[in-house]
Amino acid sequence: FELIGSRGKTGERGADLINRLGVETVKQYLTRDLQNRPDQQVVECHTKLIEDQSDKTILRIRATCGEVDSKQLRKIADIAERFGKGFVHFVVRGSPEIPCIDKQHIPDIEKELGTVGLRILDGGIDNLQTCYGGCCTESIMNTHPLLRGIERKIDELGMRDLKIKISAAGCPSSCGIAHLSDIGFHGGVEPEVNASLCDGCGLCVPICKRKAIEIKDGIAIVDNEECRYCGQCLSVCPFEAITEKRRGYAVLVGGHEGKDTRLGTVIAQFVSEETALQIAEKCLNLVRARGADVAAIIDEIGIDKVKEKLTSFSDSIAVTTNNNQE
Ligand code: SF4
Ligand code: SF4
Ligand code: SF4
Repeated sequence: FELIGSRGKTGERGADLINRLGVETVKQYLTRDLQNRPDQQVVECHTKLIEDQSDKTILRIRATCGEVDSKQLRKIADIAERFGKGFVHFVVRGSPEIPCIDKQHIPDIEKELGTVGLRILDGGIDNLQTCYGGCCTESIMNTHPLLRGIERKIDELGMRDLKIKISAAGCPSSCGIAHLSDIGFHGGVEPEVNASLCDGCGLCVPICKRKAIEIKDGIAIVDNEECRYCGQCLSVCPFEAITEKRRGYAVLVGGHEGKDTRLGTVIAQFVSEETALQIAEKCLNLVRARGADVAAIIDEIGIDKVKEKLTSFSDSIAVTTNNNQE
């Protein structure tokens, strides 16, 4: 806390600090004087939610996009009080979970959830996860319609039991964990500098955290290898010299969480919501046909083959293996 974050001495994120100073320097700072520091107070947690009885379970509730309305939230709280121990845990993928539920009550709870349009998340496709999507000021694409569309497609295809994780983020930041999913989507915008309007003032240079902009011969140049397509530079130029060349979703496949965490690979860029939906459908069919997760399919047949299978239906897709977005 002394060192990183907006209130730390550096004001930087941990990863940026390590990139700048090296991990050894950061480690030395964080571990020096440990013996001389007063003992830290440990906060004890008295909530006993660990369930070791076989007749109890954790009830998982599907909440697409991590959203429940106030009526649904009241119902979840009511169920937690009557059937559990009054606690609800919200997991990374946005679904509420109620621990310590007696298994014999599941059918009754399912009926009650149904009265407010909720259903149990019982294996198969994990909660469709997104960040704030269109509500966030950084957002480039509104992810909620895309995920709702994918959810409808899953129901149409009768694929609720498929083991697959799907996520979306409004921009290339990682809040939506698009890079840690079998198939993930994130919004992106490609900047373009109009040389005749740029006066080389350099205001756009420090805005770019990727250091992708430099001034050469009095004109801003964007390094496409480094650009993360976050769109931050577009709003700072006083001469409107940076404009939007393309906007859309990047599609990443083969990521997953867990003990062997793996980042997804970008297979398409700047695709429309409609095309993203088509790629998602192809991905669902591929996973069902091969009976394996996307990372395993990539390991078996190669990323190029997977890319071809998921994107070959459209000539208009900007396909790339450049993974610099993550
Ligand atoms: S991923 Fe981007 S759009 Fe989504 S919440 Fe994070 S910063 Fe906002
Ligand atoms: S802020 Fe605009 S005018 Fe200034 S260097 Fe960047 S692109 Fe050029
Ligand atoms: S879009 Fe983002 S990463 Fe790309 S040049 Fe602009 S600020 Fe940098």
